Order: sequence, then C-alpha cells, then structure tokens
Amino acid sequence: MSAETFLAALNGVRRTGNGRWLARCPAHADKSPSLSIRECDDGRVLLNCFAGCQFQEIVAASGVSLDELFPPKTLGGDYKPPERRPVHAEDALKTSAHELTTGFLILQDAAEHFRAAGFLDDELGSFGLSRAIVQRLFECAVNVSRVVEMATGRAVNVASEARHIRNSAQLRQEELEQAEPA
Ligand SMILES: [Zn+2]
Repeated sequence: MSAETFLAALNGVRRTGNGRWLARCPAHADKSPSLSIRECDDGRVLLNCFAGCQFQEIVAASGVSLDELFPPKTLGGDYKPPERRPVHAEDALKTSAHELTTGFLILQDAAEHFRAAGFLDDELGSFGLSRAIVQRLFECAVNVSRVVEMATGRAVNVASEARHIRNSAQLRQEELEQAEPA
C-alpha cells in the first residue's frame, strides 16, 4: 500500500513526523483530524482512527480501491500481505476447543485402527497412542472449554462437539463418495 495514494484521498492531511500523518477520518463525521496514518519501512500503512473506525470502513469511505492500496508485487508472485482483523476472544477459544477435539478424534481413530490390528496398549504407548495419551488430548479440549465458560458463561460441550465433528466428517465422506464418478 502506498501512503501517497491514500493521503491524496483524504482531507485535512497534516504531516506529524517521518512517515506519519494525521487527517480527517473519512469514515465518520470528523471535525478534528483523528485518523493517524503511519507508513512502515516495508511499505505497509497502518491506520488508526481515534473514534474507533475499522480499517475496512476507512478505506471504503476514502474511495480508494484496495487494489490501488495493495498493488500486486512485481516480484514474489502472488504475495498478499496477511490480512489482520480483530478476532473475538470467544471465537478464538471456541476454535481452539474445536481444533483440539478434532485432534483428539484423529488420535482416537488411529489408536482404534492399531488396536483392531492387534496392538496392545503398551505398544500403542510407544508411538504416543495409548489410552492415557488419547484421553489427555480430550482433557486439553475440556480445559479450553472451561476457559470458554469463564469468558462467556457458556461452556463448549466437548463430547457433543466431538459427535458434531464426527457427523460432519461422515457427511463430507458421503458427499465425496457420491461425487466420485461410478
Ligand atoms: Zn473514524
């Protein structure tokens, strides 16, 4: 993103330092310049509206297209700067619980597979698939769900989350099988 392109679309621009400007935020009725613009050494431009407008809102209101702000790099192929957006802690925690539960199911399936092939729990332990180890991962998911409960007052039920993941995996598998040409 080039700061120049963006600054040209703003009103009340005032340079406040090296690679730093203040301007009137286009995303809200801004009387005193409350949008700070900072150009980093790597060309990224950081925006901060003191009234709390979000990056996307500010860019949209400026009328500058994202393509202009993030010109495709001539070197480095399809490089896109990582998109940064605010994430709610609740969503992050629920995602962690979900991912841990998925990991637990994967280990559990692997352990069942080996158990069915005649391996004993001791042997399974030597490659990290004993009942205790698999159970430990389940507990990890439960622990994260407790943090979810502390933060939101509502716990994630790990057992029903596990059932839900199993069911959706089953559905996906059936869809894949149906999609295969006979
Ligand atoms: Zn604003």
